[in-house]
Amino acid sequence: MIISMRPHASRAEIDHVCERIAEFGYKVHSIEGEERVVIGVVGIGDVTSCLESLEATPGVETAMRISAPYKFVSKEFRKGRSAIKINGCEIGGDEFVMIAGPCSVESEKQIMDTAEGVAAYGARILRGGAFKPRTSPYDFQGMELEGLKLLRKAKERTGLGIITEIMSDRDVELVAEYTDCMQVGARNMQNFALLKSLGGCGRPVLLKRGMSSTIKELLMSAEYIVAHGNPNVILCERGIRTFETATRNTCDIAAVPVLNELTHLPVVLDPSHATGKRSLVPALSRAGVAIGADGLIVEVHPCPEKAVSDGAQSLTLTDFARMMSDLQPYIRLWKEARSRELAAV
Ligand code: PEP
Ligand code: MN
Repeated sequence: MIISMRPHASRAEIDHVCERIAEFGYKVHSIEGEERVVIGVVGIGDVTSCLESLEATPGVETAMRISAPYKFVSKEFRKGRSAIKINGCEIGGDEFVMIAGPCSVESEKQIMDTAEGVAAYGARILRGGAFKPRTSPYDFQGMELEGLKLLRKAKERTGLGIITEIMSDRDVELVAEYTDCMQVGARNMQNFALLKSLGGCGRPVLLKRGMSSTIKELLMSAEYIVAHGNPNVILCERGIRTFETATRNTCDIAAVPVLNELTHLPVVLDPSHATGKRSLVPALSRAGVAIGADGLIVEVHPCPEKAVSDGAQSLTLTDFARMMSDLQPYIRLWKEARSRELAAV
């Protein structure tokens, strides 16, 4: 169940509702929004009586039953789409958002050249890892604080928003200071300590699907962040592990419309990690636009053969420019479909 309190309900009313919930044997998860408090009710008990009682309790605006195990992120909680603002652009609204940049921040020149290039060709957000989750402990681990500072500099120069990966709950405050959006990588999708601490980080979170995680598990992880106080979560399909070896991962393209049925959260597609091959990125990007993703996150490097990570899947700036131009007819159709949808709500 989800209980929405009236805007500006008093503390006494909120406390009273929480006491009533406890009397019915349920647990309370409340989210304090700017305008109103929303209370998630979880556990096993007499749902019908509890709902009836809460609907009649002072301060309550609506009380609704949510059958999905993920409550706040489910479509039952919110019918339409949630649009999430990152540095003045909105993901999940009427704009198809391109996020682009290198896998890792490597040097000032590399990140500045990439930022200026992708901005010129229509990207709205710059990606780049400063803390890198690498399979081998001997591989480049990221520039850390120096990398974060370079990302900030690139933002100042280009006006692009910044997204960068957060790997540990210990670094949340530091990374949040430098970035507009926190990326949780596939390997950390079920790092529950990290997810909980992102509930209070004050930044939107881009949550990538774990490489062996189901869609339900992805949504449960998103629920962790929202239940801990942060409603601004963007989901990302980046390919999953299957028996197929022709691509680095298998892009679960159906995950996009499946997620659109199950959740109001925005969904972006990462065609770079989904394929592992530069040549396949434009085709999957077209598919992402056509299938109704809210945006793409694409790896771009000014000189991929010199990249310290993921060079094989990184587009050159020229490739990126061509892809952006080729995507325009698809993006026009996307916009028409999205405006029709938003007008119908
Ligand atoms: C990345 O975005 O560079 C990355 C490490 O992605 P993923 O977590 O999807 O593997
Ligand atoms: Mn990468």
